[in-house]
Amino acid sequence: MQDSSPPRAGAGGDIAIVGAGLAGPVAAIYLARRFGRVTVLERRRDPRRDPARVGRSLMVILSDRGWRVLRELGLEPRVRRICVPLAGRCGHLPSGDTVTTPYSRYNTPIWAVERERLHRLLLDAAQAEPGVRLHFELPVRQVDLDRPALLVGEGDSERWLSYEHMVGCDGVHSVVRAALVSRGARAHVGTLDLAYQEMVLRLPKCDRGLMHYWPAGDALFGAFPLVSSDLFAGSVFFRSQGPAPSYAAAVGGRALAEQFARCFPGLAEDIPDLAAQLETKPICAVRLTRCDRWVHGGSAALIGDACHAMAPFMGQGMNSAFEDVRTLVSCLDRERDWAAAFAEYERTRRADGDAIAEISYEHYRTMSRLPDPRQQAEEAVVQRLVNLMPDRFVPLYERCAFSQESFSSALAEDRDLRDLASCIVDRHGFAAATDLPDGRLREWAAVSPRAAV
Ligand SMILES: Cc1cc2nc3c(=O)[nH]c(=O)nc-3n(C[C@H](O)[C@H](O)[C@H](O)COP(=O)(O)OP(=O)(O)OC[C@H]3O[C@@H](n4cnc5c(N)ncnc54)[C@H](O)[C@@H]3O)c2cc1C
Repeated sequence: MQDSSPPRAGAGGDIAIVGAGLAGPVAAIYLARRFGRVTVLERRRDPRRDPARVGRSLMVILSDRGWRVLRELGLEPRVRRICVPLAGRCGHLPSGDTVTTPYSRYNTPIWAVERERLHRLLLDAAQAEPGVRLHFELPVRQVDLDRPALLVGEGDSERWLSYEHMVGCDGVHSVVRAALVSRGARAHVGTLDLAYQEMVLRLPKCDRGLMHYWPAGDALFGAFPLVSSDLFAGSVFFRSQGPAPSYAAAVGGRALAEQFARCFPGLAEDIPDLAAQLETKPICAVRLTRCDRWVHGGSAALIGDACHAMAPFMGQGMNSAFEDVRTLVSCLDRERDWAAAFAEYERTRRADGDAIAEISYEHYRTMSRLPDPRQQAEEAVVQRLVNLMPDRFVPLYERCAFSQESFSSALAEDRDLRDLASCIVDRHGFAAATDLPDGRLREWAAVSPRAAV
């Protein structure tokens, strides 16, 4: 399936991609269609040969930004066949009530797909693309930005491969980013104070057309329907450190199960093998990355988690990585040379990477938070403003999942909207959400200069 011939070294014009995770194959196809030969180097085994699951969440969400890329590559129909549409999220509150929030005001769904199936499909597509050569079990150990060349390990030996242009799709622990850092770029690699475990469970009472979540303040449980069975893929999030509920405060399957039951009482009853699953499933950290430089001249550029790994709660990590590739390629289409194109890519895209990382973390806080009267009043005012002036105020989730607009402008405008709602609640109290006449809300919106479109 994969190309077993060794990667060629040294030919002028060669493009190298480090990493064949989710973004690497997409970058390979785009670049091969424009420039011919592309060599992809991946440190892991080929997941199509190795049935053991490599990687993180069982499921990933595809939204508009991702679909646009898959459409451009001609992969949309194949991917749709392995997806399930989700119309909204259903919150299961501690009171026993449920609250369903559609993802879009127009009932447009997002799409859940099993990560490994999507990954295999993307690798197959890259493999079939003329010019693309995929090489697995070849870790890049070092990047020399001057030569430029990559030091590639092959068992006990290693050798240098030269390239002309290189794209680092090598994720959170990126060796390409490390090379930029050695040249003065400043990067932040952190771990969210949250860890998670995944489990598979049966939720017969839950609608399979929705994502389900159980907020518990300092903990959160989320579940997506699996496509290939009638089960759900669930993830429980606890803080890593600190007092209960946290992973530090509950060690071992039984203690974790008890903590789980305290946080999610109704749900625990539905998972007969809860303690066994919590005992055996790995506890995964949530990594975050930022980097203040994404490119080096015309020779190296970062994509995806290598430069903006984020909390997973908006379902935008992969979608935005795909969009990075698209942005990079459109810069290459427009600019006169690679250095100008890479500079333009960094200029237009870096603020968006930082913004979606911020939005994702804030979304976690919104989903996990227990109902709070002030926050509910502000949220209700936001909803009224959105309903009253739908062309002017667009919910943030919708802007991220169903549009191609810049994440940073979406974030800035959402902050303005929330500031406006906060002012209204300050002035009129919690009753503003229900009692304030529409006309007064319109007046507020009119005098709010920062919220003006
Ligand atoms: C729990 C969870 C849920 C998520 N859910 C969603 C979701 O619903 N929707 C969404 O859009 N995103 C989601 N994400 C984010 C998404 O998984 C990532 O943003 C996406 O995988 C980034 O793709 P990437 O190609 O940049 O990195 P990766 O997919 O991590 O790929 C990096 C690749 O580079 C390889 N590599 C690393 N170093 C080297 C080296 N030195 N030499 C060679 N190869 C190397 C790795 O082995 C790996 O294959 C989720 C993430 C998590 C943790």
